[in-house]
Amino acid sequence: MSSTFTPAEVEDLIQIRRDLHAHPELAFEEVRTSGIVAERLRALGIEMRTGVGKTGIVATVKGGRPGKTVLLRADMDALPIQEENQAPYRSQVQGKMHACGHDCHTSILLAISQKLAQQAASLPGTVKLCFQPAEETGGGAVAMIEEGVLENPKPDAAFGIHVWQNLDLGKVGVTSGPFMAAVDEFTVTVAGKGSHAAMPHYGVDPVVALAHIVTALQTIASRQVSPLKEVVISVTQIRAGSAFNIIPENAWMNGTARVFDPEVWKELPGRFARVVRGVAESLGCRAEIDYRRHNHPTINDPRMAAIARAAAIEVVGADNVRDDVRTMGGEDFSAFLKQLPGCFIAIGSRNESRGLIHEHQQPRFDVDERCLEIGAEILLRTGRRFLEA
Ligand SMILES: [Zn+2]
Ligand SMILES: [Zn+2]
Repeated sequence: MSSTFTPAEVEDLIQIRRDLHAHPELAFEEVRTSGIVAERLRALGIEMRTGVGKTGIVATVKGGRPGKTVLLRADMDALPIQEENQAPYRSQVQGKMHACGHDCHTSILLAISQKLAQQAASLPGTVKLCFQPAEETGGGAVAMIEEGVLENPKPDAAFGIHVWQNLDLGKVGVTSGPFMAAVDEFTVTVAGKGSHAAMPHYGVDPVVALAHIVTALQTIASRQVSPLKEVVISVTQIRAGSAFNIIPENAWMNGTARVFDPEVWKELPGRFARVVRGVAESLGCRAEIDYRRHNHPTINDPRMAAIARAAAIEVVGADNVRDDVRTMGGEDFSAFLKQLPGCFIAIGSRNESRGLIHEHQQPRFDVDERCLEIGAEILLRTGRRFLEA
């Protein structure tokens, strides 16, 4: 691999990551984390605004030459998960863990900040460094945008990275077009009429109706939307009843729908409501629906993806850069990509020989830390390439 980071800088990068990993903070509570970010940026003499979107920081490195503005983003929040790893840098906070790798992203962007501070004189244009809160719960990106992160100066493009446990260390995913899915959440309450379980004909059973709804919803993906367009509908929580011999009044469910295609996404709430209401009514029940949008689909701009791919090829070689990595998982980086062209890059972090195989959001998630230098080098080069293009 080709890198401009010195061994001492890489060691520093790893140490920051371990420190952040040991001290995870949940969405919008990243006080210690953003304190460390601010302290580091201040020591580098980098101009910044703190408290943007509650705990976010936006810093600006102005180059010695005029030019465009590029935004580089890292998220900072952890998850409400109890870590089960035994590493010396494991979480020291009960019930909280960096189980998605945002500790990696924050430390990578700090390492990039240091490089940019050194390179400022030769830099054509401006780099905005965006340390974002609350990706996991959603809302962090939008909060920063509402508080002006995309103004004064307005960036011309946005780039971000995510460590990626579905990719081996040394591999990088740069996908042009749809990369991560839209994230919708639905809650349905089916109202029937309670009765004795032995005399169902005196009531209207909402449990049977809910069961039919769960099954019928799958026909949106399998029968209603083109098989060439991905749709996932997962009902993840169901609640009803209080005893084995009573048909309850209500049944409740909650879950998520994921889709890439903007047209399919637009039509999804309508399709969902038609199936739910129609099935409920056909069985004599009434359905109440709460349907929410969390994240837009994350769609990489083809021109920006080409810039990121060129940078990735420089760092890990063409054979290690894949263009087919996609997931139905979601990201609130999509809020930036809705307003700016840009690209979100997947940095392989899995290493089977070291047992680093656990998925994101799992209590044994951990990365091969060699991905940190790769991620930092690629994001740095991507930003510079954009400004120099
Ligand atoms: Zn994440
Ligand atoms: Zn996550």
